[in-house]
Amino acid sequence: MFKAKANSELISVQHTENKIELRLTKPEGFDFKAGQYGTFKILDAKGDTTRTFSFASSPKEKDVWVGTQHGDTPSKYKATLLGLKPGHPFEIKGPYGDFVWKEEEKEAVMVALGVGVTPIRALLMDRDDLSGVTLIYSGSSHKLYLDEFEGLKSKGLHMIETSHRDELAQALDTTRPTQAKAYYVSGSMRAVGAVTKHLKTLGVKGKHIYSDIFTGY
Ligand SMILES: Cc1cc2nc3c(=O)[nH]c(=O)nc-3n(C[C@H](O)[C@H](O)[C@H](O)COP(=O)(O)OP(=O)(O)OC[C@H]3O[C@@H](n4cnc5c(N)ncnc54)[C@H](O)[C@@H]3O)c2cc1C
Repeated sequence: MFKAKANSELISVQHTENKIELRLTKPEGFDFKAGQYGTFKILDAKGDTTRTFSFASSPKEKDVWVGTQHGDTPSKYKATLLGLKPGHPFEIKGPYGDFVWKEEEKEAVMVALGVGVTPIRALLMDRDDLSGVTLIYSGSSHKLYLDEFEGLKSKGLHMIETSHRDELAQALDTTRPTQAKAYYVSGSMRAVGAVTKHLKTLGVKGKHIYSDIFTGY
């Protein structure tokens, strides 16, 4: 599997509320598994130019997608992103990580915590049949990819959207954990920690919880 650095170009950048969606060209021979991540260096730019992002697209898709967000004042990196024009060069390194489909499971609950949805989008897009897959999508601001997830219901996806912490807790309770289920949880360290703790109180064993932690938030 390709694991090095490769050049890519920006196709588009879209800004909605506090969220940024990037599409980049996939470098020749670039191979990764759905759910993995890479580092994205903005070439021909000054200062703080590299961040780690999950691939929001699956390997089956033509381009490489990234989804991110910013606070009231975007960081230097994010401000640079927002000013880029199509064709701008990037360097991608990767792939890294093992937040990937574990083949042995039949039923899965995906818990997307805000922008932590990015690797989960890739995992969902990677499967043709989503029966037995529940997506709990929690977030209080603009939610990336929501329209696409609505479309995935025709492939069997069951989606529960939540905006508040108590709604998230209720949604986790409704999944009625059994040992046949695997949980994929992605987001900031604090949010993933809280969900993991809640799942354990419901009787889910740690070995059935796979997590992707976005350090840096
Ligand atoms: C495996 C993984 C996957 C990730 N996937 C995504 C994703 O898909 N979307 C997304 O929005 N974010 C993702 N992140 C987090 C992302 O890398 C940034 O940390 C985050 O977007 C905040 O960036 P910022 O420029 O707004 O932060 P800033 O507030 O500017 O960062 C502050 C400081 O932290 C440093 N820093 C930034 N990121 C990291 C880091 N990861 N580790 C250590 N130091 C850091 C910077 O160099 C800077 O000095 C992921 C992180 C990891 C580890």
